[in-house]
This record gives sequence, C-alpha cells and structure tokens, in this order.
Amino acid sequence: MKSTKGIIEKTKKFGANNYNPTEVVFSHAEGVWVTDPEGKKYIDFLSAYSAASHGHRHPRIIEAAKKQMEKVTLTSRAFHNEVLCDFYELLSEVTGKEMILPMNTGAEAVETALKCARRWAVDVKGVEEGKQEIIACNGNFHGRTISIISMSSEAAYRRGYGPLTPGFKLIGYGDIEQLKAAITPNTAAFIMEPIQGEGGIVMPPAGFMKAAKQICEENNVLLIADEVQTGFARTGKMFASMWEDVDPDMYVLGKALGGGLFPVSAVAANKEVLGVFNPGSHGSTFGGNPLGCAIAIEAMKVMIEDDYVGMANDKGAYFMEKLKTIKNPHIVDVRGRGLLIGVEFDIAAEAYCDELKEEGVLAHDTHHTVIRFAPPLIITKEEIDWAFERIKKVLEK
Ligand SMILES: *Cc1c(COP(=O)(O)O)cnc(C)c1O
Repeated sequence: MKSTKGIIEKTKKFGANNYNPTEVVFSHAEGVWVTDPEGKKYIDFLSAYSAASHGHRHPRIIEAAKKQMEKVTLTSRAFHNEVLCDFYELLSEVTGKEMILPMNTGAEAVETALKCARRWAVDVKGVEEGKQEIIACNGNFHGRTISIISMSSEAAYRRGYGPLTPGFKLIGYGDIEQLKAAITPNTAAFIMEPIQGEGGIVMPPAGFMKAAKQICEENNVLLIADEVQTGFARTGKMFASMWEDVDPDMYVLGKALGGGLFPVSAVAANKEVLGVFNPGSHGSTFGGNPLGCAIAIEAMKVMIEDDYVGMANDKGAYFMEKLKTIKNPHIVDVRGRGLLIGVEFDIAAEAYCDELKEEGVLAHDTHHTVIRFAPPLIITKEEIDWAFERIKKVLEK
C-alpha cells in the first residue's frame, strides 16, 4: 500500500515546485469528507477553492458523467455534439445572458473575456486597434496566464515573466474615484471579482459594484464580473454580483461549474458583446466537450433543485455566528458572505492551518494572514459543529 510519506516524496522528486501543498494525501473522498492512505479522516473546508461546492463525487453528477462516458466524450468543436446546446440553454437561463462561450479552466475563460472586450472595443465602440485599455483592481486574482498576470498587482505572480501584456491599468479595489479617473475613451472594460477570493476574502465597500456598473454604463465600458470563485451559490446568491443587484455585461465562470469532477468554464454575455467572435477568432479543443457539458448540466441542475443558494445562506450564517464567538487576540476580522468566509489575523495564519490539519480540519491560508473557510455547500450543521469544535480548540489555544 502507498503511504502518505512515500507519495509526497515521489511527488516532490518529479514535480515542478510551483505549489507547496499541505502534507495530506486525498486517497478517497466523499461529500465533505476526505480519507488519507492511512485511513485518517478529514473534513474539507477548502473544497478545491470552491470548485467542489457539491462535495466530492456527488452521486448525481458521477452518474451523469458515467452515462455520457458510455456515449461520446470528445468531438472537438470541428463537429457538433448533443449536449453542448443543452449546456448553452441552461447556463443562459441561469445567467440571464443570451450567449455562452465554453472553455475549460477559469484562466481560459478570463482570457476569453479579455479578448472579447478588446475586440468589442474595436468593432462596436470604435476604439483604434492596439489602443484598447482594460482596468483591473489591486489585489485581484484572475488566473495564471501571461496576459492575466500582466494585470496582477502581486509581485510573486509576475517576477521573471516579462515582457508582460500591455493595456492594463490598476485601481484600488473598491475605490470609485480611481475608477472614474482611470476611464478614458479607449477603455474597453473594467474587470473585478465581487469578493476577492485569493486576495484574502476581501469585500469592497457596500455599493461599490453598483456604482461601478453605473459609471461603466455612462462611459460605454463593459463590466466583467469574474465569478469563477464567487459564482454558483457560494456566497448565498447564484452570483455574488446579485448582492448589489448588478447585472454585469460579462460573467466569467468556472470552478463549481465542473461539479467537482472536471474542468468546465465559460463566459456568458449578450449577443452585442459575445457576438464579436467569428469562426477562427477564438477556441479550445476541449471547450464544450460533451463529457464536460453533461457534468456541468447536472451540476447546475443539482444546485437549483437542492437550493444551494438557500444552503449557503443558512449554513453560512450559522457558521459565521459561531466563528465570531472565538476568542483570540490575534483575530482582527471575520468576514465573508454565504460559505466564503475569511478569518484575518495580525500574524501569519499558516501555523493555525497546520494545527487544524492535525485535528482533522482542512483549511488553507490565503494572503498569508487570512484563513479561508469554504466548505462544500452541502455541509450539514452537525458537520459544521464537528469542525467548529476543532477550529475553536486550535484558535483559542
Ligand atoms: C481560481 C480563479 C481563477 C482561475 O481559475 P483556474 O481554473 O485556476 O484557471 C480565475 N478567477 C478567479 C476569481 C479565481 O478564483
């Protein structure tokens, strides 16, 4: 039998060193529970950065995947398949947008949104090609491609990767005056996360996104909501933009869309925006593959039928209330929405996460001083109680 130690040693020996994972091996996982090769059980409070919102191996999604695997799994976009149209229809209904463009990873969907915005600026807005500008926020996380890290404010994401992609401007997250000042006649889009996930579960001041949408409208600038992490009920609304009654021009979606099984991402927008693509202008071999579509369709159906929005609100409020009772002088803030919660310390949070792991609770620090608690949305109150007992013990020690 493989041991945790042997697995980690081999992983380190052959793998590029671009991650520093907690020393736990997921050997088997079901719902909110994970078992390591030695049989120790853990509760998952990261859920693959919100990609496993349905929990691990949700039976209905596994079943839908198996059924599709028996029929056809890959056509490439050179041919049609039977499932892509249904994926389009359902995601269009869920987002309220007329058109969908399917990709695989979140970063690819962000790239798609950036290309779409630049082309829209030229074809629809009338900006001179090569002059298009896109505004992003300090502290953002939109993925890891060269163009995406070109709009990052994080030195660790950028060092050594130049020459970077030009055409980006950064403003303070939540600073409406800076947004106004950054807009020029060449501005194509403003991209933002409704809550910054990797940035440390940071929420902009109330009303910011609504005001940003209005300013974008007044200046004929597209508002791109990167809801890769906040989307699909995570924050207690289907999309976090809805907390501000904002209907963004483009939704960038991923993570939970793949039901915890498979990479599925997409951009959703109206025809006036997404209609700028024509054959040959963009694509992906695996994007829109029938297996991914069947999985994403079932993932969305489960989310709607089982009221994941209600679950995130209910369990989120329950958990948040408990977290706020923890007494630790180093805690400076407990914040978040639904089941995307951050506990911020005035010291590094990594040591706490290691201790939590020993107690059987898997959580990760983000932005050094914040512990992100984002369990699968299917978690029960009893499971929250089980985890909280251990969280309290570690954080009050
Ligand atoms: C995770 C994430 C991405 C990138 O998704 P990948 O699938 O890792 O490429 C983009 N935007 C946000 C907000 C994310 O949280």
